[in-house]
Amino acid sequence: MKFERYGIGIAKGLMVTIKHLFRHPITVQYPEQRLHPSRRTRGNELVWSKDKCTGCATCAKACHEGAIRIVTSTSPDINNNYEVETYEVDTGYCIFCGLCVEACPFNALFMGYAYERSQYRRNDLVQSKEDMMLESGKKQPSGYFFPEIAKELPRQTLLLEKITEREEE
Ligand code: SF4
Ligand code: SF4
Repeated sequence: MKFERYGIGIAKGLMVTIKHLFRHPITVQYPEQRLHPSRRTRGNELVWSKDKCTGCATCAKACHEGAIRIVTSTSPDINNNYEVETYEVDTGYCIFCGLCVEACPFNALFMGYAYERSQYRRNDLVQSKEDMMLESGKKQPSGYFFPEIAKELPRQTLLLEKITEREEE
């Protein structure tokens, strides 16, 4: 058994704390300060385009978690499209792998850019089509799988750069 003098461990721990007292903090004061995530982030929601979706259900078939529920009816509209009555994603089951986004043949599905969707109730994790509709203008798709969108998003905030800025002040 290794013998150590009593209190050495505490002293070592204190030295680490004291050393960090004189360093610039590398945390931000959330929620007052928010960082931009990566432009290609897979946020904790999906964004869906009502105008582009044909109701083909390829996304639901690609989802190994069974997180997407689609109900369609035949539509008398042009192009023989289905009418999408229900489009839901249960983000409680979704693992944000992005496979449904890659599978969509009509570019109607996107990973979201948001990361603040925690809920108190399990049922509130289900996104309805109204919640995730691109055309509402309230949802920002991420640049994941869509480089043309990534170009338009703000540059990711790197904590390392924030520290360098503070040290140069
Ligand atoms: S991101 Fe993955 S787990 Fe989530 S709905 Fe799409 S395929 Fe399913
Ligand atoms: S989001 Fe894409 S894959 Fe899913 S039903 Fe609509 S068109 Fe088909």
